[in-house]
Amino acid sequence: MGRGVMVGVTVGVAVAACLVAGVVVGKRVKSRRKWKRVMGVLRELEEGCETTVGRLKQVVDAMAVEMHAGLASEGGSKLKMLLTFVDNLPSGSEKGTYYALDLGGTNFRVLRVLLGGQGSSILAKDVERQPIPPHLMCGTSEDLFDFMASSVKEFVEKEGNDSESSVVKKKELGFTFSFPVRQTSVLSGILIKWTKGFAIEEMVEKEVAQYLQEALIRKGLDMRVAVLAYFSLLIYSEQVNDTVGTLALGHYHDEDTVAAVIIGTGSNACYVERTDAIIKCQGLLTTSGGMVVNMEWGNFWSSHLPRTSYDIDLDADSPNPYDMGFEKMISGMYLGDIVRRVILKMSQESDIFGPDSSRLSVPFILRTPLMAAMHEDDSPELTVVAGILREVLEISDVPLKVRKLVVKICDVVTRRAARLAAAGIVGILKKIGRDGSGGITSGRTRSDVKMRRTVVAIEGGLYTNYTMFREYLHEALTEILGEEIAQHVILKETEDGSGIGAAILAASYSSSNSVDTDTDTDTVQPL
Ligand code: ADP
Ligand code: MG
Repeated sequence: MGRGVMVGVTVGVAVAACLVAGVVVGKRVKSRRKWKRVMGVLRELEEGCETTVGRLKQVVDAMAVEMHAGLASEGGSKLKMLLTFVDNLPSGSEKGTYYALDLGGTNFRVLRVLLGGQGSSILAKDVERQPIPPHLMCGTSEDLFDFMASSVKEFVEKEGNDSESSVVKKKELGFTFSFPVRQTSVLSGILIKWTKGFAIEEMVEKEVAQYLQEALIRKGLDMRVAVLAYFSLLIYSEQVNDTVGTLALGHYHDEDTVAAVIIGTGSNACYVERTDAIIKCQGLLTTSGGMVVNMEWGNFWSSHLPRTSYDIDLDADSPNPYDMGFEKMISGMYLGDIVRRVILKMSQESDIFGPDSSRLSVPFILRTPLMAAMHEDDSPELTVVAGILREVLEISDVPLKVRKLVVKICDVVTRRAARLAAAGIVGILKKIGRDGSGGITSGRTRSDVKMRRTVVAIEGGLYTNYTMFREYLHEALTEILGEEIAQHVILKETEDGSGIGAAILAASYSSSNSVDTDTDTDTVQPL
């Protein structure tokens, strides 16, 4: 081989090496640019979701102000602040067997609780759930209510004669009816309209409890409908919106309970308000001077809420735009879909998630429990994240740093939700003067006020099952209230408040209505 050839080969190799290096460097630069774009999307998300304590306090104030407005006049706020006519909450001293019938959207449940009286808690509970046969949803009122009354009868008879209930003169039944009702007393409510596929026209504008009472009589059941607990419909939720039941159950266990919050598929809250603060219903008199108000807080809105383009798009794509703005930021129905939207945006900005996956464009494909599982994946290689990306979104083989990014997105979305929910709770406390500041209209300062022990009953699948959500919520509550005041505020988890709570409410109304058990009642404390 001549020298010239050698030189030629060497030069050739060098050129090739340079080319390869060039390509590698080019790729790296490109990939760095891609990553930078993705980081930009993340940064924007983080900024958009920012919930500094200052911002949360603005949300607290806005919630309290909207509560005032909703109580001042019908339609005065996005918060409906519905009267429930529940002015008497269970005290824990109720005794005996009580029933509840819970008519939701697709199922109805019959429940029985055995209450042991002072000092003891719920001794036994039975729940039976049945689907509602679709033909009854559009038939006659008689058919529907006879069907339910028969189920109640079967349920009652199955109990046998050995239990304590056989000595109870008349059985009491709480009725949870999850359709829009205009309530005028704890027992009377007029059906405004049917929803969720029901259409029994003859019942519209009629007293709901009356239908049940008559059907029970037709079936020969000696039962009195003692309370009609109205829980309004949440658009997406198939189940009962059960804040009042939760409050009743919470108060049964702990008399310092002043409010209840549900954070499940949807979100709502109720609390005990002074009747004289319910300005839209002048002259409202209750023996206790208080009444439970169902806030319908899912519809709360304030310009202080940190809103991103993902929220705006989610709202626009929903069947109820401009509605339920707060719920769309904090509840289980939506959190997974916000995360999906962020991942979609990142995948459009770059190919870090590999080739386009059509699954990413499917609304609600990433359910919140899956999002929670990714968020809480503590395996070093984030195998849960990898599995869900692969199985649910058909995104395979993404590197660890991308999986970490997904966890981060879940964190940002959940943290915001939990902190906003905490601000909502403090908003209620502020409205009733339990946030340590002496109430919204009072000029008193923190130091003048001795903070009373204050319990908020809380339930719902998101709160119960999603540890990170729960922890962020608690942390924010303390941040907003300050350590000292926060010590007096206790969030207590209840279980199955919707049905059990209605049965216990029936018990509480039964004892408050009877002449000889005055001591058994516990009126809602004026605040
Ligand atoms: P509902 O709101 O329909 O009455 P739940 O209170 O049980 O029912 O809440 C169910 C919701 O809770 C689900 O839609 C889901 O969003 C959320 N959820 C359930 N399990 C989990 C979980 N493991 N992690 C996060 N969210 C969950
Ligand atoms: Mg529920």
